[in-house]
Amino acid sequence: MDKKRPILVQGAMDVEINYLKETIINLEEIELFGYKFYKGLYNNYPIIISKTNIGLIQAAVATFIAITNFNPVAVINQGTAGANSKDIHNHDIVIGDECININSYITSHKEETQGSNPLEWELLTFKEGKDEFLTIKSDKRLCDIATKCSEQHVNGKIVVGRIGSGDMWDNEIDRIKWFNEKYNILCEDMESISAYTVCNKFNIPVIGIRVISDNELTKEQYERTSAIEAQKYTLEICKKLIEGE
Ligand code: SAH
Repeated sequence: MDKKRPILVQGAMDVEINYLKETIINLEEIELFGYKFYKGLYNNYPIIISKTNIGLIQAAVATFIAITNFNPVAVINQGTAGANSKDIHNHDIVIGDECININSYITSHKEETQGSNPLEWELLTFKEGKDEFLTIKSDKRLCDIATKCSEQHVNGKIVVGRIGSGDMWDNEIDRIKWFNEKYNILCEDMESISAYTVCNKFNIPVIGIRVISDNELTKEQYERTSAIEAQKYTLEICKKLIEGE
């Protein structure tokens, strides 16, 4: 690995980065355009922790600032997420081999007074001349490394698959299931797709790591403290990356 380029680790909320901040050494806070970055060393290798804040736009801006200022060798977007399947529980970890924007859709046509039915909407990415259903893949090597860390996670299982990302918090069971059954989405968050999109533009390897913090389908309540588990898992990935796997 290029010794000069840091690994960038992102989290939206303090609870999603505090453990990382406590773990790395020589911590230095840098503020750029109102976004907080923490530069330091982990296993003697440079690392930048970024607080993106919540939501797609915030995360896109924070990713852009980080890439243009720190030129990271890899980006790990990590944090909490809600599950879209009854088989995925709080404390399980989803490794996002793909990510999709769940805020980008086309509705069906309805006349006045016919109302609105989000279950009839279709996910679609709009492009000039050619709209298409689009998912963005994570970096293959990062995904392989992340999968190899699975034995390090003792509080739940590891699942590899598609992360859905949008500025929404779903509490409707039918809609949560629809994302899973129609689009194979394992969990929902509010930032990953921004990191995947911006990193792809700059050819920077990216992966999303999400610990399940809530499952509306199984009535598992939101536990934001589970965020520590995604951070611990992320550090395992960093360790392997630094060792040159
Ligand atoms: N006010 C709450 C929730 C903030 S929004 C708090 O302070 O904890 C939720 C954040 O956690 C977002 O950054 C999102 O990426 C993630 N998240 C966790 N569970 C989610 C869910 N079920 N749906 C969408 N985002 C979720």
